[in-house]
Amino acid sequence: MNAVIPIQQLEPTGCSTSPIIKERGQREVFCGLTGIIWMHRKIQDAFFLVVGSRTCAHLIQSAAGVMIFAEPRFATAIIDERDLAGLADANEELDKVVNRLLSRRPDIKLLFLVGSCPSEVIKLDLSRAAQRLDKQFGPTVRILNYSGSGIETTFTQGEDACLAALVPNLPVRPTTFANDLLIVGCLPDIVEDQFARLFNELGIENVRFFPPRKSTDLPAIGPNTRYLLAQPFLAETARALEQRGAQYLAAPFPFGVEGTTAWFEVAAQVFGISQEEVDRVLKPKQDRARLALAPLLETLSGKKIFFFPDSQLEIPLARFLNRECKMLLTEVGTPYLHKQHLAKELELLPNSVQLSEGQDVEKQLDRVRNIAPDIVVCGLGLANPLESEGLTTKWAIELVFSPIHGFDQVADLAELFARPLRRRKKLQLNPEELCN
Ligand code: SF4
Repeated sequence: MNAVIPIQQLEPTGCSTSPIIKERGQREVFCGLTGIIWMHRKIQDAFFLVVGSRTCAHLIQSAAGVMIFAEPRFATAIIDERDLAGLADANEELDKVVNRLLSRRPDIKLLFLVGSCPSEVIKLDLSRAAQRLDKQFGPTVRILNYSGSGIETTFTQGEDACLAALVPNLPVRPTTFANDLLIVGCLPDIVEDQFARLFNELGIENVRFFPPRKSTDLPAIGPNTRYLLAQPFLAETARALEQRGAQYLAAPFPFGVEGTTAWFEVAAQVFGISQEEVDRVLKPKQDRARLALAPLLETLSGKKIFFFPDSQLEIPLARFLNRECKMLLTEVGTPYLHKQHLAKELELLPNSVQLSEGQDVEKQLDRVRNIAPDIVVCGLGLANPLESEGLTTKWAIELVFSPIHGFDQVADLAELFARPLRRRKKLQLNPEELCN
């Protein structure tokens, strides 16, 4: 069984003060529209209307893999040549599309107008459009906007921008109410249910999740709200919550046994739950997770891993793979390094790790070739070329689509990295399978 070092025995610094490679060059990432793919499943009465080009429509359509007969909860209002040439009034066109959509789909209670590169290029003011349409359709249908544009962003920022746009619409929680806990970040329903049960077992009441499954069930917030981030890419949302008085709880992220334990412990401490009680509730879950993880260590232990910057999950996942799966970290790249939100994670990384922020893809490719790791975590655009050079890869986007948080998902998370390594080994033993 894999021993996990209790959090209080850790060296206090880790790689918090290690030098970071900072790069601002060509990047290989998806844009923020990608977030629609998991968010439209989460908020079940919301609709995401991208105001963009055919490219934007193709990205969403192919990434979401929606069947033609389904009534999806996203679409693209195409900005065509007439709009681009200024021959049509884009606002008028948009109003027509929204009117048609809402008259046909009474199930929609929250509509997001999602900006894109083309809407930004023609300077279409979607915030004014949302205000205008919100006056027309509210309060039955709330209409908000955010940008999913690919200029200067990475794909998980779409969720951040979307949630940050929702925060000003959260009801006010009176200061006379008891403290409550807000869990922030899209989680698959199955994980949310597991977490809700665990908070309940720990005796922590008043736990709400943001975003909620229904837009009509938005959590109230105020100065008595303490919030825990479930995802490491929510800087704008956190800022907006703090402007509303909510207080941030610093914790590692709930990946792996160690991160999940520490995450629950932070909440328990704030809500006055004793350590004995926390241990009593969490121990069976920790044991079960470690037992499920144990067989995967044979594949993962001692393997070198390299992270390209992509999802912003890189640092917490590197911590899990290093400390619980005994993998060796080489370079851990992240598009943005939020020092405050990642402080607890950085303390847990070995100080030998090379952190990098941002990207200059050619330079990074040189480094990965030089290091020749056993597995590379990268975007789809880099995976195939690297595989053809003999490197084993893991698509970073799969980590955002899969349930990977919490105790019950520890082995599944490790399996996502073990599978490509096993596959590579099999191919090395039977190269003819490459042709099958
Ligand atoms: S928003 Fe920009 S980067 Fe994203 S699909 Fe549309 S054009 Fe491409």
